[in-house]
Amino acid sequence: MPFTFFHGEFPEIAACETRTISFAAKSGFNLPVGDYSFLEMFCDEVNCDCRRVFFRVVSASRMKCEAIVSWGWESRAFYRKWSGQKDFKILDSLTAPSLKWTMPKEF
Ligand SMILES: [Zn+2]
Repeated sequence: MPFTFFHGEFPEIAACETRTISFAAKSGFNLPVGDYSFLEMFCDEVNCDCRRVFFRVVSASRMKCEAIVSWGWESRAFYRKWSGQKDFKILDSLTAPSLKWTMPKEF
């Protein structure tokens, strides 16, 4: 499943649509102060219908990838049919937002 940056394909839309969260001092979260942008990556494999996104969370101050979050916007039933997987834990990991420790292949 090759994933590509949305902003690489559609820079004008991404400039308007990319979301950033700002954490100020005393935000109540246990995170460093700063701005964190969510760079979207989508699968561009021909004939693949995985309907998933990876968010690469990049801190503006450190210009570093701080986290990768995956999310599938379809139902568990969709991913069961798509993947052939029957394990609920795996299916839930496809549908719920989850942190990833490895980066999808980029192009
Ligand atoms: Zn795909």
